[in-house]
Amino acid sequence: MTTRLDLSHAAQAERAPVFPPTNLAGMGFETLREILTDRGVEPKKVNMRARQLWRWVYHYGVRDFSGMTDIAKEQRADFAEWFELERPNITEALKSVDGTRKWLIEYGPNTEAETVFIPDVGRAGALCVSSQVGCTLNCTFCHTGTQKLVRNLTSAEIVRQVMIARDALDEWPTSNENRKLTNIVFMGMGEPLYNLDNVADAIDTISHNEGISFGRRRITVSTAGVAPKIRELGERTKAMLAISLHATNDDLRNELVPLNKKYPLKELFEAIRDYPDLGNSKKVTFEYVMLKGVNDSIAEAKDLMRLLKGVPAKINLIPFNPWPGSQYECSDWETIENFAEVLNRAGYSSPIRTPRGRDILAACGQLRSESVKQRASERRKEELTAKAEGDWRRK
Ligand code: SAH
Repeated sequence: MTTRLDLSHAAQAERAPVFPPTNLAGMGFETLREILTDRGVEPKKVNMRARQLWRWVYHYGVRDFSGMTDIAKEQRADFAEWFELERPNITEALKSVDGTRKWLIEYGPNTEAETVFIPDVGRAGALCVSSQVGCTLNCTFCHTGTQKLVRNLTSAEIVRQVMIARDALDEWPTSNENRKLTNIVFMGMGEPLYNLDNVADAIDTISHNEGISFGRRRITVSTAGVAPKIRELGERTKAMLAISLHATNDDLRNELVPLNKKYPLKELFEAIRDYPDLGNSKKVTFEYVMLKGVNDSIAEAKDLMRLLKGVPAKINLIPFNPWPGSQYECSDWETIENFAEVLNRAGYSSPIRTPRGRDILAACGQLRSESVKQRASERRKEELTAKAEGDWRRK
C-alpha cells in the first residue's frame, strides 16, 4: 500500500489569517489600539490609525471599508481583512401607532434582547437599551422577570443596540443636527448593576466625543436597587441614576421587588444619597409603577414624599403595562391623577409617564424575548467567539 502525504491542509493553514476578523462595531477604544498593535501597526501610528477608524465607525457609521476615503487603499485593504463591521441579526422590527419602535436583536442561538426607541422623550427621543438577556430579579409586575436569565450582554453588544437604532433611524453622522435619538436609558431587559463592568465600558464608548458622543448626562441607568454598586456606577460612568422604587415600605417592596429583601429601603436610600454630584442639575429619577389597589393610595403618595425628603429627585409615575398572564391591573386614571397631585403640591412637576408602544409590547416591563436558557456548551462556544473578537481584552 502506498501512502501519499496530503499537504493541502498544511498549505491552507499557512494561508489562513493568524486571527479571525474582529468585529469593530461596538469595540472599545483601548481594545482597538491593542488589536492594531497585535496586527503589527507601527507603534507611533497606532493612535492615529485607531482614531481614524473610530471616527469612521462611530461618527459616520460606515458599514464597509471602501467608504473610509481618507485612508490609503492598501491600508483599507488591511483593515477589511482584519475587521468586520457586521451588525447583529434583527429578528423582528416593529413600529407602534405612536411612533415607538422595537427591535428584537439576535446575539447568538437562543439569545435575543430588545431595544426600544421612544420618540419625544428628553430633547427629542430616548433609546431604551437592554443590559442582559432576561433578568434574575423576578419583580412580580415585570414581564421580563418571567424569562430565565440567559446571560449578560457584552459591552460591544450593548453599543451595537445604539448603532442599530442609528442605522434604522438614518441618523448618522453624529453631527446630524436633526437627530431624534438624543438620550439613552438602561431600562430595557436586565439589571444593569449586575453587569456593571460591561455597562460602564459601553457608556465609555457611546459617550466618546469623537464618536457616537452622547453626553453622560443624557445617559440614565435604572436599577431595582443593587445598593452596594450604586456609588461605583456614579464614579465610573457619571451617568444619571434612576431607581425602580414602586413601594414606600419594606413589606410591600419585598413582595414587588424581591431584591429589597437583600437591600432594604434604609440601605438603598443611604446608597442613593451617596451618589456622586447629586444636586439640582443632577437629580435621581424615581420610577413608581401604578398598581391598582396595591401601591396607589394617597397615604402612600405622602409616604413617598417623606421618603424622598432631602434627595434631589424627579418622579416618574408609570401606569402599569399589562402583559399576558400578569396578576395586576393599572390604577384608574383618576387615582393616578390624585396621586400625582400630592407630588405636584410638594413641587414635583409632570410626574406621570404616558405609556408608549403598548400595542407592540414595547412599553416598560413588557419586554420579553423567546430566549431560553442556553446550554453550557453553546455558551462556551459563544464565549470563544467573543474572545476571538477581542471583547475579552476589556475584561
Ligand atoms: N432592572 C432595572 C432596569 C429595568 S428598567 C430596573 O429595575 O430599574 C424597567 C422599568 O420598567 C423599571 O422601572 C420597572 O420597574 C418598570 N416596569 C417593569 N414592568 C412594568 C410594567 N409591567 N409596567 C410598567 N412598568 C414596568
